[in-house]
Amino acid sequence: MKYTGAVALLAVMSGTTALAQAPPSEIDAHIAAARSAAGQDYRATFVNLCLPSAPRGGGPGPAGPGAPAPPPTPDRANWYAAPFKVFDNLYWLGTRQHSSWALQTSAGIIIIDTNFAWATEPEIIEGLTKLGLNPRDIKYVVISHAHGDHDQGAAELQKRYGAQVVMGAPDWESTLARPATAAGGVPKRDVSVGPDGTKLTLGDTTIQIVATPGHTPGTLSYVFPVKDQGRTVMVAYSGGTLTGAFGTDGARWDEYIASQRRIARVAAEVEASVMLSNHSEYDGAYTKARLVAAPRQPGENHPFIVGTEGVQRYFTVMTECAMAAKLRAGAK
Ligand SMILES: [Zn+2]
Repeated sequence: MKYTGAVALLAVMSGTTALAQAPPSEIDAHIAAARSAAGQDYRATFVNLCLPSAPRGGGPGPAGPGAPAPPPTPDRANWYAAPFKVFDNLYWLGTRQHSSWALQTSAGIIIIDTNFAWATEPEIIEGLTKLGLNPRDIKYVVISHAHGDHDQGAAELQKRYGAQVVMGAPDWESTLARPATAAGGVPKRDVSVGPDGTKLTLGDTTIQIVATPGHTPGTLSYVFPVKDQGRTVMVAYSGGTLTGAFGTDGARWDEYIASQRRIARVAAEVEASVMLSNHSEYDGAYTKARLVAAPRQPGENHPFIVGTEGVQRYFTVMTECAMAAKLRAGAK
């Protein structure tokens, strides 16, 4: 309550501008809630989403939609990471910054997110081979959203192995509008996911795909089962993170917030206890993939298992930061 007088005075002094601003205490309350939910696990997610002065790493960058020409391949020393098996049937094929995953089923492999085009060969194709898997078994490539850091490998995997590419309907539209010279090429439309989401089954494994528009209009998030030493655990996968371009577009902020609540609810329903993202800075995948290889004591948790409460905290960070940022932007 202590801010009430100051806010009222500001409103009188500067008219409608001040009236459009939420009380600082309200913004601070959302940031405090996000910070508390982030704890030590999701510090980078908190910093990138909640603190506006923080550098915004890991976005689509120059390879985003509409990029005129393929960017040069960066120095391999700055991004290459060896592949790792992280669960009985889930493999991490990421660079140090961006993650691509291989979910092995009884009827072939589902690749979840690709990466920049220059990573397709060394990380996905060679990565699978190094881990004893055959890239020819790739049946589906599921793309969380149409930004270059996650989708530039899709066309190549489709062309080379006949994999079906799965994407949110609005993101297909932006993808198909790219010039043929776009980095990684342009995939043909295979499976298009609408606002109600869908279930994708391959052999013994089903991915529940949840439409979570916001970061892009067609962003998809997922829940799916993996096995940890034979025991089934459920994964929640967050498909799109940053909100930096939303500005004063209140509807877009609201859509993003509703999406985080939707995937959090689905994650709670299936008791998801593993939190994954497509950026290592958000889920710690680069470090955790290496930790998995270290010996585990009996009863010690898998490094990727954060518990059902840990998964919910991730989405709380996203939701609370978005609410703070929306107020700060003066969006309605
Ligand atoms: Zn993106």
